[in-house]
Amino acid sequence: MTLVLDNYIDGRLCAPRAGRYLEVFEPASGAAYSQCPDSDRSDVAAAFAAAERAFPAWSALPATERAMHLNRIADRVEARLDEFAAAESRDTGKPVALARSLDIPRAIANLRFFAAAITQFASEAHAMGADALNYTLRQPLGVVGCISPWNLPLYLFTWKIAPALAAGNTVIAKPSEITPLTATLFAQACIDAGLPAGVLNIVHGSGPCAGQALVEHAGIKAISFTGSTRTGAAIAAVAAPKFRKLSLEMGGKNPTIVFADWEASDGNWNTLVRSAFANQGQICLCGSRLLVARSIYSAFKDEFVARVRALRVGDPLDPQSDLGAVVSRAHFDKILGHIALAREEGGTILTGGNAVTPSGRCANGWFIEPTVIDGLAAACRTNQEEIFGPVATLIPFDGDDEAVAIANATEYGLAASVWTASLKRAHRVAARLEAGIVWINCWMRRDLRTPFGGVKNSGVGREGGFDALRFFTETKNVCVDLGS
Ligand code: NDP
Repeated sequence: MTLVLDNYIDGRLCAPRAGRYLEVFEPASGAAYSQCPDSDRSDVAAAFAAAERAFPAWSALPATERAMHLNRIADRVEARLDEFAAAESRDTGKPVALARSLDIPRAIANLRFFAAAITQFASEAHAMGADALNYTLRQPLGVVGCISPWNLPLYLFTWKIAPALAAGNTVIAKPSEITPLTATLFAQACIDAGLPAGVLNIVHGSGPCAGQALVEHAGIKAISFTGSTRTGAAIAAVAAPKFRKLSLEMGGKNPTIVFADWEASDGNWNTLVRSAFANQGQICLCGSRLLVARSIYSAFKDEFVARVRALRVGDPLDPQSDLGAVVSRAHFDKILGHIALAREEGGTILTGGNAVTPSGRCANGWFIEPTVIDGLAAACRTNQEEIFGPVATLIPFDGDDEAVAIANATEYGLAASVWTASLKRAHRVAARLEAGIVWINCWMRRDLRTPFGGVKNSGVGREGGFDALRFFTETKNVCVDLGS
């Protein structure tokens, strides 16, 4: 039976006003299994009206009470962790074990983290001698829009809405139409947790219709967006002339730099392989270009390829699967197109390169072998364009300067990792890399109190910690003459 999903507007689950729906597919089977609202301007207008009504009371609540609401929602999600993980896996094609160990726990952590952070978010105050007191107020903006992608659906959805709500804003969120399921379960968790009506509104639908209507809405005070650089540019073009606050987290082509002295332990090898292929390579932080010191290049290549060959691609529900399906038919075709391009550009496919067909219920799913390519120039399209799939390239380098030059020579600047036993070198290289975050001898570890974001075409602004709370508030400077 087809599952029909609802919007969440003004505290209630409801059908889209025009009654139109989009089909949602299960990547592992290739079959349509649910329908999500194909919302339009009228749904966004209803969500805005609800959010605007809810704003005065929500923003006036003490921060500790808003925090209590977020923690109650986190409790509801945690109580249904298995159900959320199964839904995330079904919608995205990712191994259910990954959804259970990463996506849903992190969504819960996002809610709890910002519930705590808002109680510690301080303004500044300066006594100007004995005569005056100058202080700042951090005030919520009003109704804000949060637009999130399909690769880490609930993880990134909560990463935006949690700070927005904690800071006292009311929110209209638009998840990706490709992966709407966990946001719908989340709406039910909000209802069960007693979140006041209109504080959070979830409007499903396509980017060009519901997403665009949200960005264009005259009353929206800020847009927090995570997705592709192309969409980010389109959103900026609409929002900038309206002087709307914008946070853009976008694509990447992240370098992994392996120096000859790196510690080739089993644990480090596993992290390197994971950094390229976790979630089928569909994490914005995945290292898709491995820059390897020429003196160890040949031995590194052999070991890396052997380890990648050992990865199991299969049913996301099978706990033995390391990689599941990629998210959609269109994305599957796009990734295979990139692999064909790599061949045309003269690349050697060291392993992978093809679609795979696990048997049984996955026979029509969208699975691609983890693929490693070398023999390509650093400047070619394969090494410049974001593929966002299970495809990694190997590039040899000579010396620190060349490693840094190759690493920086793309339009992106999201993340990088550096592998070396010399912390002095790591420190030096990290400072020269054009990236929002640099990992040294590790990958994808980050304290939630620290800022996150990209440079160049990877992003504008920072999320995480107090940076997110700063984005979702406006500073007012107040100066009081204390009189005589
Ligand atoms: P898209 O840019 O296609 O979509 C992101 C979101 O924007 C979706 O909800 C989409 O809706 C919506 N959208 C699309 N067009 C518009 C529009 N004109 N106006 C408003 N909203 C719109 O990205 P993907 O979903 O394909 O996600 C993959 C990309 O996200 C990759 O480039 C990846 O690097 C990047 N990413 C960046 C991260 C970071 O932190 N820097 C983290 C994770 C991913 P719909 O899907 O319904 O069309």
